[in-house]
Amino acid sequence: MQALEALESNVRSYSRSFPAIFSRARGSIMLTEAGRKVIDFLSGAGTLNYGHNNHQIKAAITEYLASDAVVHGLDMATPAKLEFMQTFSSVILRERNLQYRFQFTGPTGANSIEAALKLSRKVTKRQNIISFTQGYHGMSLGAIAVSGNRFYRTATGVSLSGATFMPYDGYLGPSVDTADYLRKVLMDESSGVDCPAAILVETVQGEGGINVASKEWLQSVQALAKKVGALFIVDDIQMGCGRTGDFFSFEFASLSPDIVVLSKSLSGYGLPLSMLLIREGLDAWRPGEHTGTFRGNNLALVSATAAINLYWRCLTFSQGVQRMGELMRRRLEAIASEHGNGFAVRGRGMALGFDCQMAEIAEITTRKAFEKGLIVERCGPLDQVVKFFPALTIDLETLNQGLEIFEESLAETLKQTRSQ
Ligand SMILES: *Cc1c(COP(=O)(O)O)cnc(C)c1O
Repeated sequence: MQALEALESNVRSYSRSFPAIFSRARGSIMLTEAGRKVIDFLSGAGTLNYGHNNHQIKAAITEYLASDAVVHGLDMATPAKLEFMQTFSSVILRERNLQYRFQFTGPTGANSIEAALKLSRKVTKRQNIISFTQGYHGMSLGAIAVSGNRFYRTATGVSLSGATFMPYDGYLGPSVDTADYLRKVLMDESSGVDCPAAILVETVQGEGGINVASKEWLQSVQALAKKVGALFIVDDIQMGCGRTGDFFSFEFASLSPDIVVLSKSLSGYGLPLSMLLIREGLDAWRPGEHTGTFRGNNLALVSATAAINLYWRCLTFSQGVQRMGELMRRRLEAIASEHGNGFAVRGRGMALGFDCQMAEIAEITTRKAFEKGLIVERCGPLDQVVKFFPALTIDLETLNQGLEIFEESLAETLKQTRSQ
């Protein structure tokens, strides 16, 4: 670790929270160089929904590599790309009565957010983007401009413009419908808020603290976007690809966004792959207007196709996620009510947050958990929420072991902090 610290920039972060050298991983278990087995409840912040080194997906990419098929071709046409789009269209989109065009962007989620914002501004000839308090959309300047976090905003060193922040669902407490406020502001010619090119939303805010938007709120926001001529964009980078139970996190509310942004678990294997789904009729790009060297990485397209074929051709996987999510939620709620302290459990599917209310409790608990063999991360404006993001393919025994470690760690933390 010391050699690593001497070489790597101070900006490194996860290697501080989880101080070990990780050499191998499979499914939900990571192995350190020292031979310690650790359960992974972080899953690359939602990138490893199908687990580490999923053997069935791996078989598809090893075969592809062995055949000398094209790995890099900029955005030239390849059988891998065609097969991905055809599979995604028939298995994911057609089954849900959705119709979209695919845009492959640079490999990061942030780059696909940039593309979504550019396209919205181009289509509507407006500049302003409505985004929400505690939202997170990535690290490039356009994406940070629509993200709430002051720490990241300040680090840019420039003034960020082009966005108006509105209160997310629940931001002003359970009795205030913040969609009413948004409606008032957008319909009022003198509100001081410019007509938006787009409304950009996460259905569950991942980095923001596992804040869950209700079906009704999301439907109101979508209807409002339509009413004021703005595009409705769902950032499904973290909550998509099955995390909330359905493939898209917005299915439960029957939304039909104008643009959907996907990345993280899209490749199914932790390989970088990002894309936009663009509603028919909104594809106003001129050829090459948003480009990039690594668009539609073929290896990642092959693993993405394999993941869809493996998990999304029938309902079994999705139902399993819902069921395991319920188990997790019940267990976490039992822990919350046993230990009092105003602890709260939030989330949907297998995206769950345990709000410790105090940053210190969350911090000590997750540190202890790592010592006991569990990787679990924190989120929220104060980092006060413990975020449960196990692989969707985790077995019940490992899931329960992880939850057990969390409970022990929390109990020890409370004993320690209360005796101080
Ligand atoms: C991770 C994330 C991004 C940014 O993706 P990068 O690949 O890190 O650029 C954007 N939006 C959400 C909701 C995310 O979770």
